[in-house]
Amino acid sequence: MQPQSSATQSAYRSFVRQNSDADHIISLRKQMEQLNTIGKRFVAANDRFQVHHALLATLQELYSFSACSILLKGDPVELSIIPRYPLNSAFIQAMIQRIARAASVIGFQGISAQELAVVADLDAPDDLASFSYDTPFESTSIGDFLNIPLTVESRIIGMLSLFDEHEGAFDTDLLQLTTMIADYAAVALENVRLRERQRALWEEAEHERNRLELIISSMAEGLLITNAFGVITSLNSSAQHLFSLADVDLQLKPHTSLRQLAASTKINWLLDFAEIVDQALGGNVVMNRELTAGTNSETVPLTLSVSAAPLYDTNQNINRPIGVVTVLNDITSIKQIEKLKDEFVSIVSHELRTPLTAIKGYTQHLIRRIERRIRDIRSKQESSNPPIELSESYDLRSLHIVQSETEHLERLVSDLLDLSRVQWGELDLQYTSFYLADVLNERVRLAQVSAEQHAIQLDIQVQDSRIIADQLRIGQVFGNVLDNAIKFSPPGKQVTVLLQGKDDEYLISVIDQGIGVSPESFDHIFERFYRIRSVANRQYTGIGMGLFVAKAIVEAHGGSIGFSSNQDGGSTFYFSLPRVPKTSNLHL
Ligand code: ADP
Repeated sequence: MQPQSSATQSAYRSFVRQNSDADHIISLRKQMEQLNTIGKRFVAANDRFQVHHALLATLQELYSFSACSILLKGDPVELSIIPRYPLNSAFIQAMIQRIARAASVIGFQGISAQELAVVADLDAPDDLASFSYDTPFESTSIGDFLNIPLTVESRIIGMLSLFDEHEGAFDTDLLQLTTMIADYAAVALENVRLRERQRALWEEAEHERNRLELIISSMAEGLLITNAFGVITSLNSSAQHLFSLADVDLQLKPHTSLRQLAASTKINWLLDFAEIVDQALGGNVVMNRELTAGTNSETVPLTLSVSAAPLYDTNQNINRPIGVVTVLNDITSIKQIEKLKDEFVSIVSHELRTPLTAIKGYTQHLIRRIERRIRDIRSKQESSNPPIELSESYDLRSLHIVQSETEHLERLVSDLLDLSRVQWGELDLQYTSFYLADVLNERVRLAQVSAEQHAIQLDIQVQDSRIIADQLRIGQVFGNVLDNAIKFSPPGKQVTVLLQGKDDEYLISVIDQGIGVSPESFDHIFERFYRIRSVANRQYTGIGMGLFVAKAIVEAHGGSIGFSSNQDGGSTFYFSLPRVPKTSNLHL
């Protein structure tokens, strides 16, 4: 019954509207509360099983059904079957058939029921977890089913399916709500999947980190890493061991920079080490630098070989290293072997010297005797013109060759002896005052005897060539350089020796027209036992020791040695020597 008057009518309409608005609000609030509860269930789910159970609990409030299933895309796909009560296997197989068919419709490409059966997983409490053939539930066929795609941001990630043994079990009126629930489940499952993936990645990274740490800690080489300020950030047990061998206790000074450590402990090799780290921080790679970490009182002190390289961040900002990686190796045993080898060479050289001195002395004696005899014969033959060729002259030439070759052998032996002295910093110079021109003259004279086919020209461009130096060793250096000039140039070529004065030093240059030095050997020619490996060089004898020793002797005198290529293909080797030793108090 409706009120009749218009005023009453409008009051009635307003009453009805208000009441229906109120009903609407109440039902809306109810729905929201319901959604809120559903949302909370899914948000609380930590793993896929909790999502499954949240889903089951929510769907149960809407429908009565036998089982639901969740199919998720992936490689391989995942299929979870969640029964509400024990199901027989025929029913489950029928479910899988339906799922496979529906899946191909929503974009699961070519997935067969057999494949699904392999991956299918029964997510049920223990009492439902195994298929039962003698349960009261005997239905083997599906009465009704419902498939809803699971979507996240319009992307299909899987499919939710509901199955019941009775026909018409699923009311399509509830489809909208079920889709909403499926969306909740999809987001929750995607979150779980992301979280699982994140955890797997993290575990993998952690595993890799542990593996790396294990490798580093079991490395035989010492590994020390610093940050951009040269502060030690990590070092492995081998490095710790090496530091303890060198009496450096790093435990006392955690987080100090190497430089501070060196300054506070006043340990020299640490200063050198800090220097190497600084070089690497400057962007340079330092390879195999030798550091003497032990005390000199030991026969062979603890010797470390250090290599360092700048460490850049993953963005490869090569302007600023974020630290330095250094590798330390204990090479003391190698040094010990070297020392033994050098001692052996030194003993053998000493033993060779004695017979050589005798040969030299007797040859000298014979030369003098024959020269005297020749003079006597010549004085008696003064009248004979032309002079008769004497057999003694031939003997004299032969003896001169013996003398020159003995000199060469003596130089080789001296080089061998000096080699170990240079190596162990034991080069001892005997300074005397002498004329450099005399030494050059004498050596050129001796060299000319055995190098008959080379023209050796000596150009002394100084008036007074007095010098304070180790005469024997300077002769040795010049002899080596001259020998090379002759050895490495074809017969008939000229070798020019120049002696020049410059300020307070002399410059000796030996210019040849020989095979020259190839550019790739420029940096190595003064290294121990270095010989150019070229076809041209192979025919010449030598052991690559002369220039190494020559450099050490010249530098010990405060001079320098070098070489340049000549335009005509030969080379010029030169060395400078101070007139007066820089470190000595002696004066001319
Ligand atoms: P060795 O002469 O015993 O081989 P050195 O140390 O005197 O050893 O010389 C090292 C190498 O330098 C030689 O093997 C040779 O390859 C090169 N070399 C030295 N002097 C000359 C030169 N004047 N011309 C060309 N190559 C030279």
